[in-house]
Formats: sequence, structure tokens, C-alpha cells
Amino acid sequence: ALEVRLASRPRGWPTRENFDVVEAPVSEPGEGQVLVRNKIMSVDPAMRGRMNDAKSYVPPFEIGKPLSGGAVGEVVASNSQQFSVGQTVLHQLGWREYATVGESHAVAVSPETAPLGAYLGVLGMPGLTAYVGLFDIANFREGDTVFVSGAAGAVGSVVGQLAKLHGAARVVGSAGSAEKVRYVTEELGFDAAFNYKDAPVHQQLKSVAPDGIDVYFDNVGGDHLEAAIGSLNDFGRIAACGAVSTYNASEPQPGPRNMFQFVTKRLTMRGFIVIDHGERRHQFFEEVGPLVRENKLRYDETTVDGLRNAPDAFLGMLQGENKGKMLVNL
Ligand code: NDP
Repeated sequence: ALEVRLASRPRGWPTRENFDVVEAPVSEPGEGQVLVRNKIMSVDPAMRGRMNDAKSYVPPFEIGKPLSGGAVGEVVASNSQQFSVGQTVLHQLGWREYATVGESHAVAVSPETAPLGAYLGVLGMPGLTAYVGLFDIANFREGDTVFVSGAAGAVGSVVGQLAKLHGAARVVGSAGSAEKVRYVTEELGFDAAFNYKDAPVHQQLKSVAPDGIDVYFDNVGGDHLEAAIGSLNDFGRIAACGAVSTYNASEPQPGPRNMFQFVTKRLTMRGFIVIDHGERRHQFFEEVGPLVRENKLRYDETTVDGLRNAPDAFLGMLQGENKGKMLVNL
């Protein structure tokens, strides 16, 4: 069966040459393991970080070894009391057609409750990231004006809609194309949005949020972060979720030049990693599950077919080719 391995580490933007798609043997499940035929897998911005040989909250991918990441598939052989053949499971061994997964690393999911891709997006890791980041990290309160960057992506699209549903005074977003700006305002219900490629972010942010912002959900970093600091009102809060504008930089990028405003405006900025917030999963599911089912919270997916095309899906996502969650159908 096919798997995708890291061929070499990128410097700057990754390319197709950094990946190898190879035939690998499928191993029978050992004691406590299941063999899963993957049906759909996620490509995430964080995978770019794991391509570097750098210490972080997860170990780097190893050259010559398969990449990994969220995937959903069907159990085709089981050596576990917990799972039977035919069950659908979520696990972390994507980037391969067949995965041998330890039972403690798999979670049963229901294909009747939601389409499989939802478990990798709105009801999965990105959805939980939006929920935890907005409510626990940024301490969102009714009446806040919220700015979210990466607004048309997997996390950002959920952040903006949750803020609206919970009584935000105003929700504004940024994204990288006119079509995405239309999408978040007309289809997701953002009050306003702008294309960050059109003009400096600080100018455009001021025009969509003339009275300032109370919360900035940062998916992007760089000039977006500096602009948000400039627009935050007194006691404003930033959830530092990601900095996708810097992930392909070959040199460290300069920081915001207006950090003194943290003092004058009594701002707070807090970083977080969703894997530390598993205890919120239950409540997240209870709240967001019904919103999705009742179409009160909308989500979209961009899908690419075939494991051989997974590297292109990943590279395309880094360039903004996705609307909502980027996924690969296997
Ligand atoms: P998205 O679905 O938002 O996809 C990535 C998007 O990044 C692209 O669609 C593109 O959209 C945008 N982008 C690429 N380059 C730039 C740039 N230079 N400036 C601005 N935007 C850019 O990904 P996710 O929703 O999965 O992730 C969003 C962020 O959240 C990332 O920073 C990610 O690392 C972070 N994250 C953090 C987690 C945590 O635990 N802290 C967990 C999950 C995600 P566009 O067309 O608009 O440019």
C-alpha cells in the first residue's frame, strides 16, 4: 500500500521534492492493535513545522519515514477487544493508505452522525481549537468586537461564526482573496472582511472596525498581529493560535513594533496548543454538534483525491487554495 514519506527537509517554501510516495508493506495488527484502511486525511499548517528539524511541542517528522496526521478510516482487521472490523475510527496515522494503530490511539466515530471529514474539521481538532481559543484563551464576552485572521480557513471560519452566535457586537475577518471575503461575509455571516493582499492590514482593519476591536484571534502573525495590537481597545485580548504567514520563512521574522501598547492599553496575549485542552472536548461536542446539525454553523471542505496528491493538497493549503478545511480523500 502507498505511504508518503519525508524525502528531505525544506528551507523556505516546501516543494513536491520534499515528499516521496512509496509502496510499503502492510503489517498485521499486533496485540491491542487494529489495521485501518484510511478513507480521508487532514493536511494542517502545523505539519510544516514538523518538516523542520526543530524542537517543538511535537517531534519533527523523520527523513525516510512516513508523515503523520489526523485521519479517519475503517477497521479492516482487529486484534483489539475495543474495536471490531467495520468500525470507523479517528486516529493520527494519516499520510498512508493502511495504518496499524494501537487501540489507545484510536477513537470510534459515527459515520451516521456526521460526514467523515467533519471529524477532521469543524467537529475535530480545528473546531476545538476555535472553541478553546475564543472562549478559554481570549475570554470572549458578549458585546465584544472580534477580529479573526485566516477567516475562511478551518479554524477561522468557526471562530467568526461562534463569536456571532454568542453575541459579538461585530465580527470582522481577513483572508487572501476577494472570493474568500465574499464567502465569509455573505455565507458565514461576518459583519465585514478584507483581502489582506489589497492594502496594508492596519489600514484595512481600521476601516472595517473603526471603533477598535476587543479580541484578536491570531492565525497569521506578522503584519496582522501588529495591526491588531494597534486596533485593540483597552483591556483587549489576543489568542495566539498560529502564525501561518511566517511558517515558510527561512529567517526569523521581525516582531510587532508596537509592543509598548500592551502597557498603555493593558492588553493580554496568550498562546495555546489545542492538545492541552482535551477536557473541553465533551462540552465542545455538546454545543457545536447541534449547531452543525441544525445548519446554524456552516462549514466547507476543499478535497483533493488520492494519496499521491496529498503533498499537493498540503502545499496548496499553505498557498490558500482551501475554503474551509483542506482534506484528502483516499
Ligand atoms: P487554514 O484552513 O486556515 O489554512 C491555512 C490558510 O492560511 C490558507 O488557506 C491561507 O488562506 C492562509 N495563509 C497562508 N499564507 C498566509 C499569509 N502569508 N498570510 C495570511 N494568511 C495566509 O488552516 P487551519 O485553520 O488549520 O489553521 C489556521 C491557523 O491555526 C494556523 O496558523 C495553524 O497553525 C493554527 N492552528 C493552531 C492550533 C493550536 O493548537 N494552537 C491548532 C490548529 C491550527 P488565505 O487565502 O486567506 O491566505
